[in-house]
Amino acid sequence: MNALDAADDLLAYVDASPTPYHACAESVRRLVGAGFRALDEREAWTLAAGDKIYVTRGDTSVLAFVVGAVPAERGGFQLVGAHTDSPNLRLKPRPENTKHGLHTLGVEPYGGVLFHTWLDRDLSLAGRAMVQTDVGIEPRLVRFDRAMARVPSLAIHLNRTVNQDGLVLNAQQHLPPLVGLEALGPLDVRELVAARLTECGTPTDAKQILGFDLSLYDVVPSTRSGLRGELLHAPRLDNLASCHAALSAFLAVDGPRDATRGIALYDHEECGSRSAQGADSPLLRALLERIVLAQEHSADGLYRALARSFFISADMAHAVHPNYADKHEPGHMPHLGKGPVVKSNASQSYATDGESWAAFEAICRRAEVVPQYFVTRSDIGCGSTIGPITAAQLGIRTVDIGNPMLSMHSIRELCAASDVGKMIAVLRAFFES
Ligand code: ZN
Repeated sequence: MNALDAADDLLAYVDASPTPYHACAESVRRLVGAGFRALDEREAWTLAAGDKIYVTRGDTSVLAFVVGAVPAERGGFQLVGAHTDSPNLRLKPRPENTKHGLHTLGVEPYGGVLFHTWLDRDLSLAGRAMVQTDVGIEPRLVRFDRAMARVPSLAIHLNRTVNQDGLVLNAQQHLPPLVGLEALGPLDVRELVAARLTECGTPTDAKQILGFDLSLYDVVPSTRSGLRGELLHAPRLDNLASCHAALSAFLAVDGPRDATRGIALYDHEECGSRSAQGADSPLLRALLERIVLAQEHSADGLYRALARSFFISADMAHAVHPNYADKHEPGHMPHLGKGPVVKSNASQSYATDGESWAAFEAICRRAEVVPQYFVTRSDIGCGSTIGPITAAQLGIRTVDIGNPMLSMHSIRELCAASDVGKMIAVLRAFFES
């Protein structure tokens, strides 16, 4: 895949993934297309060298592995992690509200939403419905694919000083989207979802919907921009761009190598990773241990394997913004289009240290890519990633990296097309080492 194809493929991946449920399903679709088979956590596993396997949990996290040619206690694990979730507005369990003749939806911000970017957008609904069937309660993906909601901004005539004072939005009061006129009929989200599932070929009655996880998304497709198509405008680049890069690099490498290689695409990073399927769960450790146990192994096999392992935590990085360049540390200003960024923080908000940084620099040299470096200004706080969480859970060497972007956590983010292929090349060189 050349650099141009990789960028267009990223946009297709993002548009296929309006929610973590869809990101997980799209990733599984690509894995299955490459010959990977699902393993059930409830069953015993039999594994052989070269086996291509994946596990999903909660319908939002997916981890995939190619079992190494030698047992993991001697070959170790080569792992790349990223997250499938992005900040958004999620429906409350009883979201239907009607006031002043208008239907609105009760929503709750998920993660660090940049509120104002959700105003005046063409919003739709997507996620998962839990449907009672003859065989049990089953998850069904749902997406409406059309504009059906909007968070209208307040006219400037009613807020005269907004451009001087700044826009302050209250999460409870100002974010519920408007979805229609009361005069035309009632609002019932379960009825809507059932009708959409039926329309898409799965006849469903509203009474069958016992629960749901639905959120809003912008229906406008991702696009190339810039004078020469060199920029990408898309939602959820943080962190679907890293999921896409990890998956693309992982699938580009053929056959088993000595190490067992894997990708871990987790949900719930944006709210701290503490969940049954987040990076702060026992999920990855359990899978690594089960791979060790399914191979020829010693009693201390897992610990020997972990000591031979390396984890690349891939999450997006802050490119320098030309209108706010003073927000960056002057010696560490990542530029759009200049490749992957190594992220460091003395207090371990990023897991990078000199050893893991050197290992990543060596991988970049093999891929003939020059990395950039990022630390925050010493007087501005630092974000974090799944990197330190994974390092603390597993005790393995970890580096935090990611492609540069602008508008992080906006409903519509921005990155450079040429960086997509560079990141894939570097992660591929890692899996090939
Ligand atoms: Zn992120």
